[in-house]
Amino acid sequence: MTCRVCHSQMAAKTITVDLRIGDKLLVVEGVPAKVCDHCGEKVFTPAVTRKLQNLAKRRRKPPRILKVPVFSLQKGAA
Ligand SMILES: [Zn+2]
Repeated sequence: MTCRVCHSQMAAKTITVDLRIGDKLLVVEGVPAKVCDHCGEKVFTPAVTRKLQNLAKRRRKPPRILKVPVFSLQKGAA
């Protein structure tokens, strides 16, 4: 499979995906995807996309919680 952005070869990998839904940030580990080594473009199969959407919708209790630091370049001294 070639990348639709830069037409390099894509490799099958298991990655961590962050999904942003409104002001919620979900992190999903162990996601199978094709990843472009050149530009980082990611492609998911329709089945994986559906699972990610379901996770976002169902709001099941996750196995663990990450604390995510949030920075801004707009306020204060950067
Ligand atoms: Zn690419």
